[in-house]
Amino acid sequence: AKSHQRSSFSYFTVDMGVEIRERVRMMHALRAAFENERLFVVYQPQIDMRTERAVGAEALLRWKTEDGQFVPPDQFIPIAEYSGLIVDIGEWVLRSACFELMELHKLGFTEFKMAVNVSQAQFSHPLFLDSLKRALADTKAPAHCVELEITESMAMTDPALLIQTLHQIKQLGAQVSIDDFGTGFSSLSHLQKLNVDKLKIDRAFVNEIGSKSGEGNIAKMIVQLSQSLNIKVIAEGVETEHQADTLMSFGCHLAQGYLYARPLTKEDLRNWLASK
Ligand code: C2E
Ligand code: CA
Ligand code: CA
Ligand code: CA
Repeated sequence: AKSHQRSSFSYFTVDMGVEIRERVRMMHALRAAFENERLFVVYQPQIDMRTERAVGAEALLRWKTEDGQFVPPDQFIPIAEYSGLIVDIGEWVLRSACFELMELHKLGFTEFKMAVNVSQAQFSHPLFLDSLKRALADTKAPAHCVELEITESMAMTDPALLIQTLHQIKQLGAQVSIDDFGTGFSSLSHLQKLNVDKLKIDRAFVNEIGSKSGEGNIAKMIVQLSQSLNIKVIAEGVETEHQADTLMSFGCHLAQGYLYARPLTKEDLRNWLASK
C-alpha cells in the first residue's frame, strides 16, 4: 500500500507541474498582451424590454493573441486574478469603460449606463477607491452612470471590508450590482445590509426558462426578492423571446443577451446605437 501511495503521489506532482507551468506561461503571455495593447474591451447592450431600447452596456474584456486567436475570459481572468495582474488590468478596463461612456454621452446618449466587472483582488486592494475616483475625474464620466459588478462570493469573504468599501462607493455616487446572483450562498440578511442597487440573475437560471427543467422558478424568486428589497434586477443571457416574455411577466424589465446583441466593439456599439 505504501509504494502505491508513493507512486500515485509522484504522478500527482508531475501533473501539477504541467498545470503550474501552463499557468505561468499564460501569465507571462497575458502580461505581454496587456503591455502590447492586445487586450481590448467590448460592450454588450443592456435593454429595457418594455421599450426595447438600450439603457446601458456591460464592459467585457477580450484578449486576441498575435496569431489571431481569442482566449476566453473564463480562462485568463482566473490567471489575472491569481497573479495579481487583475489590479492593473481591471483599472485599465474601468478607465476605458468610463472613457467610452463619456464618448457615448457626448454623442447624445445621455443617461446611458456602463457596468464594469470588478474582481475580488481589485476590490479589496487599498488603492481601489483612489483608482475609481481618478477614473471618474479624468474621464468626467458621471458617477451615477457607472455601475460596478461584484460577485456574490465576494459578498462573503470579508463582510466588514465589503460594507465599508460599498459605503465609500455610494458616497462617490457610483452604483453597485451583484453579478451571477443565486450561484453563491450569501445570506439574505447579509444582502440587505450590503445596500446594493441591483441584482443580476445568472444566465443559468435564465436558461432554465423554456427548458425541460422548468419555467424559471429561481429567476422568479430573485425578481421577487429584488422587489421586496426595492432594488433593480436584470437578467443575463437572454436568448429567446419566450425567456424575455417570461421574465417580463415576473416583473423583470432589464435584460442582456444574444436575443438583443452580442458584446460589440466600441465602434460597433456606436453604430448599433445609432441605427436604433
Ligand atoms: P459575466 O460577468 O457573467 O459576463 C457575462 C458573460 O455572458 C459574458 O461572457 C457574455 O459574453 C456572456 N453572454 C452574454 N449574453 C449571453 C447569451 O445570451 N448567451 C450566452 N451563452 N452567453 C452570453 P464573457 O465575455 O466570455 O465573460 C466571461 C466572464 O469573464 C464574465 O462573466 C466575467 O466574470 C469575466 N470577465 C469578463 N470581463 C471581465 C473584466 O473586465 N474584469 C473581470 N474581473 N472579469 C471579467
Ligand atoms: Ca458581469
Ligand atoms: Ca454575470
Ligand atoms: Ca455568469
